[in-house]
Amino acid sequence: MEGRWKVTEETVVMYDSPEAATYVTEISGWKSRDGFFWGKDEHMARYSGSTHKKCDECGRVYSKHSYCDFCHAKKETEKYYAMPMIEWDETTPVCEWNDDKYFWDKESVLDYLYDMYEDAQKQGCEPEVQLIICEPQHLHLLDAENWSDDLAEDGELPDAVLEAIDVFNEILKNQKPSCWYPGKQRINMEPLWEELKADLEKEKAEGFR
Ligand SMILES: [Zn+2]
Repeated sequence: MEGRWKVTEETVVMYDSPEAATYVTEISGWKSRDGFFWGKDEHMARYSGSTHKKCDECGRVYSKHSYCDFCHAKKETEKYYAMPMIEWDETTPVCEWNDDKYFWDKESVLDYLYDMYEDAQKQGCEPEVQLIICEPQHLHLLDAENWSDDLAEDGELPDAVLEAIDVFNEILKNQKPSCWYPGKQRINMEPLWEELKADLEKEKAEGFR
């Protein structure tokens, strides 16, 4: 804790040295609720002795070890809507913004929207789902540099090895994506919600609901 005591690495103070400790009779300063003495540092004493704090932005009260859920969610939503929007081809995988939820086809997106729609209805609010497009990861190619440590300073890989690398890389390039990760574009949710609502209307009309 800076400011309370300073011991540089070069300083050696023995247990029985006079500087190791001083007997004090009169001290005054800030003591926190949890029993620590902070001297003139009122701020640290208050911080140490408190459990909650008030959000500078919205005034809500939250644990001092945490952050304001409300403002955090608001900022994340702003980030989402600041991303460029694209029309979804309904084939490329999509995932939920800031979440591990991935969707590999339109059917599972619509199922999820339906669940969110039902939850929102129960709570009397509008459903909101934030989906973003995923980007493919491909297996990385072999690089002749991988073996540079195994060669003499001006040494070169044998031709047969170089040829084999080319053949192997060709195979790697022809593979499907090895995995998908969240991209930087959001997808237009409007057509999906419309489709879901149209489906629900249709089911209603046909007497399923
Ligand atoms: Zn807040």
